[in-house]
Amino acid sequence: MVSKIDKQPIPITEIEQSAFCQTDDELASKTLEEEFDSGVRWQKLPVSYMRTSPEELEKKISYAKNKLGNKIMILGHHYQRDEVIQFADIRGDSFKLSQHAADSPDAEFIIFCGVHFMAETADMLSGRNQKVILPNLTAGCSMADMAHIDDVLDCWDDLTEILGEGSVIPMTYMNSTAAIKSLCGKNGGIVCTSSNASAAFDWAFERGEKILFLPDQHLGRNTAVTKGVTLDEMIVWNPFKPQGGNTIEQINNAKLILWQGHCSVHTRFTTAQIDAARKADSEVSIVVHPECTLDVVESADYVGSTEYIKEIINEADSGTRWGVGTEISLVNRIAAENPDKDVFCLDSVVCPCSTMYRIHPAYVAWVLDGLLEGVVVNQIEVDEETRKFSRIALERMLSIK
Ligand code: SF4
Repeated sequence: MVSKIDKQPIPITEIEQSAFCQTDDELASKTLEEEFDSGVRWQKLPVSYMRTSPEELEKKISYAKNKLGNKIMILGHHYQRDEVIQFADIRGDSFKLSQHAADSPDAEFIIFCGVHFMAETADMLSGRNQKVILPNLTAGCSMADMAHIDDVLDCWDDLTEILGEGSVIPMTYMNSTAAIKSLCGKNGGIVCTSSNASAAFDWAFERGEKILFLPDQHLGRNTAVTKGVTLDEMIVWNPFKPQGGNTIEQINNAKLILWQGHCSVHTRFTTAQIDAARKADSEVSIVVHPECTLDVVESADYVGSTEYIKEIINEADSGTRWGVGTEISLVNRIAAENPDKDVFCLDSVVCPCSTMYRIHPAYVAWVLDGLLEGVVVNQIEVDEETRKFSRIALERMLSIK
């Protein structure tokens, strides 16, 4: 189902205009990974795609999809705009989409309409014969980018030196680079999602006295509180300060070391917004994502992943009213799909996830046209070593209930 906002003209943001203005020569000397790693934030795209109308782009994508048939699979993350999601073969959160890719060995090309770490995960979980494509290489995740592998390795060395080997279990949220997942796999750690973070905490505390949680301090803190860890048993690791800004004593006493990362979308929600929603309607139900801050999570009626938020509203009684603390594209879609309920975003001026938004239909059309011509553009490939240890951390996650 496509909501009414699909019919609006597709806005071209300033970033995208700059991207379109780059010439091929300017980027010709770089590999795709260099483009991403070097901090270059513009994705080259032939200028003709910029001049293509939204209607023409829709036609181009539909044509390519039909022509390529089962050779391709388009995965659409819940936070994608409707103009893109309408072409997704399946929608979901990052792990559901990666699992779907792994369970679909016939699709030779997986077009991941999401962000960079998701495409990496899909590459690690899919078959060797499958190629994962990210339509716009600049679609990263600001949270994942807050934990750079060099900084995390420095932190890990410090912790090992201070605490000795084996006492800290590294745990990373799915929203992290493959390099971070690999570090966890190599050092007895695990990956978690927002759905299974609680079980992953149990798994880790059975194996070590302390957890290093990466990269989202809020998911880590919110989960730990439900496990009985008190706030004074947690420290935050600031990668820009020696020893993360902590004393040796604080590190020794901590049960949980939280990496100083956050989601710029979910940390916009506040208890004042929740209070205002309740003041307007005392019957309203509040549901938020666990990437929100602890006070917001504690003030909400329900807390859960994007899949959970979607399900709880879909299954709610007609006539109910829902204030939601998550990304606006998803909230708008849930609202459109539940016309018998009143569903609204807690932050009336919240922006979409700006990096997810970089998957403009023009890029989707471009990569599909490439495949029609036998050219694979923007393939995301994780190297063998990283893949091997990341899979260990991912398989540990899959083994927990
Ligand atoms: S919503 Fe937040 S965590 Fe999710 S992709 Fe965007 S920046 Fe990353």
